[in-house]
Amino acid sequence: MNVNFCSLSSGSSGNCYYLGNEFHGILIDAGISATSIRKFLKDMDITMQTIMGVLITHNHIDHIRGLEILTRKNSIPAFTTHKIWESILTPQRKISRDCIREIPLQQKFHLAGFDIEAFPVCHDAPETVGFHICSGEKKITIATDLGHICQTAAPYIKEANLLVIESNYDEQMLVNGSYPHYLKTRIQSDHGHLGNHQTSVFLADIINDSLSHICLAHLSKNNNTPEKALQTLHQTFSERGINLNGQQIISILNRHIPSEIIRLVE
Ligand SMILES: [Zn+2]
Ligand SMILES: [Zn+2]
Repeated sequence: MNVNFCSLSSGSSGNCYYLGNEFHGILIDAGISATSIRKFLKDMDITMQTIMGVLITHNHIDHIRGLEILTRKNSIPAFTTHKIWESILTPQRKISRDCIREIPLQQKFHLAGFDIEAFPVCHDAPETVGFHICSGEKKITIATDLGHICQTAAPYIKEANLLVIESNYDEQMLVNGSYPHYLKTRIQSDHGHLGNHQTSVFLADIINDSLSHICLAHLSKNNNTPEKALQTLHQTFSERGINLNGQQIISILNRHIPSEIIRLVE
């Protein structure tokens, strides 16, 4: 079955990604309002009724802003680990209890025609996961908030045909920027975010012909630009003598507007 991917929003103001086949869809994170999610999906002729669930990576607000309404108004089940649920379910947050689904780490489960596995990543939340999602032969990996690529996460990322990976900050812009020292240190740490250079070097290590789409995600508003992220990637690849094979597509995901739909054909 063909698979369609679209980023509805990506970055520290809100993350939400759509993955669908001809019958159903799922969301990965709900970091923008449920109203925006509904509108962006409608623009693609996708109704909320076809959304079978939302996978949640961690408890930061840029990943769960719309979760209360999605569960309460649209009754969309939400899937994440026990520990992440513990960090999300504060008394102030009104998430419909009927929509809570707990999933184990690194164990496949089936939803909407997809085989899905959550894997742990290093980030400054009580627990954070990435998702590895398979549809037939097609493999999609989403890893948007991680300070470095640990040994557990790497195999899931290396297997992807479509990879959504963070390229959060330009190292120079962050160092020279206005953020306070503690915040710069936090972002650069192993439990913060991936910088352009870090991501580019990792991609240069793993690039292979089956990796057909690379989407650079979660770009910082203050410490990055799409041009810098792309330029760093191309420069790293050229220094390593890596030539893209012409079939490989690199996209930068927008902060506030949906991306083009990427179609993976079986
Ligand atoms: Zn985030
Ligand atoms: Zn985060």
